[in-house]
Amino acid sequence: MAVDVQRTGMLLIISGPSGTGKGTLVEKLMKSDSSFRFSCSVTTREPRTGEIDGIHYHFVTGEQFDQLVSQNAFLEHATVHGNRYGTLRKPVEEMMAQGQNVLLDIDTQGAINVMENAKDYVSVFILPPSFTELRKRLEARNTDAPDVIERRMHNARGEVARLDRYQYTIVNDDLDTAFTQLHQIVEAEKLRSTRCKITIPE
Ligand code: ADP
Ligand code: 5GP
Repeated sequence: MAVDVQRTGMLLIISGPSGTGKGTLVEKLMKSDSSFRFSCSVTTREPRTGEIDGIHYHFVTGEQFDQLVSQNAFLEHATVHGNRYGTLRKPVEEMMAQGQNVLLDIDTQGAINVMENAKDYVSVFILPPSFTELRKRLEARNTDAPDVIERRMHNARGEVARLDRYQYTIVNDDLDTAFTQLHQIVEAEKLRSTRCKITIPE
């Protein structure tokens, strides 16, 4: 009989300016690592072409969002780039209780809120190689109107200023390199002793 290792779930928080490549990296991680569950946030933002309700976000009205706030349904919520976003408490707690790894793609306000309240988490900030490249990516994504892009570019500087609150930083210049780095962080964090319960046989 070999050593028995029981691992508890990891709460992985990913943040970074809009257009930096969070969604792209998250999708690659979800495809390559079946131990992760994505926390599908609630938002009042309009769906973009191709976004599916219940997969990318739960799309709701302002009134529905208010109702969820009053029901204390959110682990955290924040207004980001003029829309409201929130992480549902129940699914995250249920997935964590089942020992699954849970991934949150949330903004710096929400992330700092979670970090101040959660006992255990892994936090990763995704930086663009430059603000010029960030703008190029937002424009090339072709999902946001020019005024929305301006607002996101303006907010990017404030978000980057919170970088020191995160445990890890990845520069997403070359996508494959950035993904390898994310994968390495995740694999190392899976071995963290504080998240393992070990029984050694005689
Ligand atoms: P976020 O989720 O952070 O807003 P996305 O994942 O939607 O960002 O990426 C924004 C755009 O940049 C997308 O069109 C995506 O394909 C592209 N992108 C992501 N990573 C890179 C990269 N390393 N190099 C070039 N383009 C990238
Ligand atoms: P987008 O509109 O581009 O999908 O997301 C805009 C920003 O909102 C991103 O920084 C994203 O990480 C953040 N975001 C998405 N879901 C949540 C959430 O549940 N809570 C918070 N605080 N931010 C979120």
